[in-house]
Amino acid sequence: LDEQEAFDIEYWLLEEAKLQRMPKPKSLAGQVAVVTGGAGGIGRASCARLLREGACVVACDIDAEGLETAVSDLQAAFGKDVVRGLPVNVTDEQSVIKLMHDSCAEFGGIDILVSNAGISSAAPIDETSLAVWQRNMDILSTGYFLVSREAFKIMKLQDRAASMVFVASKNGLVASPGASAYCTAKASEIHLARCLALEGAPYGIRVNVVNPDAVLRGSKIWTGEWREQRAKAYDMEPDQLEEHYRKRSMLKLNVLPEDIAEAIYFLASDMAAKSTGNILNVDAGHAPSFTR
Ligand code: NAD
Repeated sequence: LDEQEAFDIEYWLLEEAKLQRMPKPKSLAGQVAVVTGGAGGIGRASCARLLREGACVVACDIDAEGLETAVSDLQAAFGKDVVRGLPVNVTDEQSVIKLMHDSCAEFGGIDILVSNAGISSAAPIDETSLAVWQRNMDILSTGYFLVSREAFKIMKLQDRAASMVFVASKNGLVASPGASAYCTAKASEIHLARCLALEGAPYGIRVNVVNPDAVLRGSKIWTGEWREQRAKAYDMEPDQLEEHYRKRSMLKLNVLPEDIAEAIYFLASDMAAKSTGNILNVDAGHAPSFTR
């Protein structure tokens, strides 16, 4: 190296070191995110992750009490001005229209939609009542349709890039024992996302999917009937489930709500500016393999 080259390298290294020490600008500053199912495990973790990047967040849920707790915790951590809690029933068209309207009134638009509100309900096919089938379709399939349609209308009118992330499930790609209604509804969410990606692209609206594998910690759906049903389907006790999911994964890890939130943040942000219509499996390495 001649003297000038050595100087240039040293100067560059010093500049790099300075940059490393500088606080990073918040990557979602000025953006508004609506997160459905915000009172639940994945929804709440997602709100926190997006808030940490500077977004304003509307957390919405049908569970009024759970939402109040989640919102007051988030406000305590991030400030009152950047978080709102709004009620919604994602199966009710008027309720969803009102949610999107009120979100715009609160923060002036919608840049990010995280469609996440959901349930888990399962039974072997010959024991699946029409009511159970319909409930899965209503909340998951129709709920995702209504929420994304109303957000789409607003995003289309805004003259800027926007993004939707659907929290579907590994079970939307592969079959799971005794859960046909849930698996079918989740598969429809994934295909809806692909269709919306195609329709949204001309307006700069990206639509991607995160597929979690079992996220037991923090999740309300893992506390009741679903937990019992899954344990029965795998012929084990409910308290063995977490270990079962860990052991069957390639990485031998359980998936946590924060892992899903990280993937949602990635897909919602400019880091994924050239990704649309895609699926990100967050399953510690399981989805490509098969059913159990
Ligand atoms: P969770 O039960 O903790 O949260 C779901 C939230 O959705 C709840 O707060 C619930 O009140 C809300 N909700 C239910 N019905 C609603 C309705 N009609 N309108 C508005 N809100 C409603 O569960 P979670 O684990 O956080 O699940 C979030 C999403 O992730 C769901 O779509 C679920 O299917 C999906 N998922 C979860 C897992 C898992 O193992 N936890 C795995 C794969 C996919």
